[in-house]
Amino acid sequence: MNIHLVSSEAVPYIQTGGLGDVVGTLARQLSFRGHSVSLTLPLYKSIKAKQKEFGLKSLSEPLRVTMGNQVLVCKIWKTSPEANLNVYFIEYNDFFNRDDLYGEEGKEYTDNGRRFSFFSKAALDLAIQLKIKPDVIHLNDWQTSLIAYYLKTWFWSEPLFRDTSSVLTIHNLGYQGHFPMSNSGFVGLNWMQMRSDEFEDNNGINPLKGGLFYADMITTVSPNYAKEILSEPGGCGLSSYLNRRKNDIVGILNGIDEQEWNCETDKYIPQTFSAKDLSGKKICKTTLQQHFGLKTDLDIPVFGMVGRLAYQKGMQLLMGCLEDVMSWDLQLIVLGSGNPFYAGYFENLAKFFPGKVGIYIGFQNELAHLIEAGSDFFLMPSLYEPCGLNQIYSMLYGTLPIVRATGGLVDTVRNFEEETLTGTGFMFNDITSEALKNTIGWALSTWYDKPGSYKAAQLTAMKQDFGWKTAVEKYEKVYEKAVHRRKSWS
Ligand code: ADP
Repeated sequence: MNIHLVSSEAVPYIQTGGLGDVVGTLARQLSFRGHSVSLTLPLYKSIKAKQKEFGLKSLSEPLRVTMGNQVLVCKIWKTSPEANLNVYFIEYNDFFNRDDLYGEEGKEYTDNGRRFSFFSKAALDLAIQLKIKPDVIHLNDWQTSLIAYYLKTWFWSEPLFRDTSSVLTIHNLGYQGHFPMSNSGFVGLNWMQMRSDEFEDNNGINPLKGGLFYADMITTVSPNYAKEILSEPGGCGLSSYLNRRKNDIVGILNGIDEQEWNCETDKYIPQTFSAKDLSGKKICKTTLQQHFGLKTDLDIPVFGMVGRLAYQKGMQLLMGCLEDVMSWDLQLIVLGSGNPFYAGYFENLAKFFPGKVGIYIGFQNELAHLIEAGSDFFLMPSLYEPCGLNQIYSMLYGTLPIVRATGGLVDTVRNFEEETLTGTGFMFNDITSEALKNTIGWALSTWYDKPGSYKAAQLTAMKQDFGWKTAVEKYEKVYEKAVHRRKSWS
């Protein structure tokens, strides 16, 4: 098939979270299966800075994109990392030459509506200019969901897209991208689309909602999350709307990039290891403790955390119990970026518990690998979690996750059972700090009092398979359905 992915993030070029991991890896995996794959991304400032490293070449012809009554002219860059994979970058400096992707210091950029509607339209204009004739355009989250609408309206009579279908993946329904109504001219929406049936939401434009109306097929990133979004609070206000399309929604569990996240070959950690020989993990733990200036002691359990510092990740639950928890014999290491309020909280915690708490505020892939490898437990008390990748990396690196029973965490982590010695992590249900604290206590007593049980769970966790094979086959089936659906329209 000819598959065109459009996304605001994709590894290795740019990422703020799981969206980047999934799109970048899926593109490569599809190309390995023999599909002809293209991927379009914005040319952000940080990608520009690594132009040489990524092997970007500029195309000679500029691209003209009409938005409302304006024509925006942009430059296109290209690289071909795999035989069947071309990656295109849209350079429009007014929109993308900024320090961050969606906002700075906890505030969204106020022109995100313009930025990403332009990017969505440009991805289609680019396909026309380069004569790419996709069977499927795969859209990801609100940033690119308008493409589903453009295909069925503005580009409906474009011969190149006669057989082009759209698949929209919801990576996180908590982000829907609300734009002011005043953007409608620029975006290309008229009063017919500004009904609550399509784009209207609280007197503004909700691009994800409209995308869900127009996409041929919809996927989300785990089977359990696909169920949760059909009722509230999982539906983030869109559950009844999503129920209308419930037969077109497929939950496909994310795979992981096994080249990047493999404790036997990981290039970022001081010593690799495996379930058969865990001696390298001890070296990683010592290095991690030294890195953060904590007491180097293999007997003290290290609890790691990596992720966006966002409400979704259960920050309140942590804030409600960490002071108590830190009086116990354990160490805590946090790597995160996002909301400055939470960042400040963790920085203060480190000041209160010197030698026991290590904090790094920022985004650092290499450090994320060291934390996964060197920790004994991984904290992920998310309020909701569409799929979650870090709990998977943790398990494969022999680091037992402590998670709330929600979304993809339920699909990936099995709760530890003392009698049968089965399970791969520690789970709690209630959205309370008490429940989290008790579960950390349970994990801690397992570490100190039942090291054999800890080891059994660790080995079970490490031996699981979270590769992309199954996921890619499921995406192929969804693409076929979307193509079929599109044909029925013509
Ligand atoms: P989400 O998509 O909600 O952010 P996931 O668990 O699905 O959460 O994916 C998060 C991804 O982003 C993981 O690959 C994780 O290692 C990475 N990540 C998040 N924050 C950081 C950070 N501060 N430094 C390095 N990597 C990070």
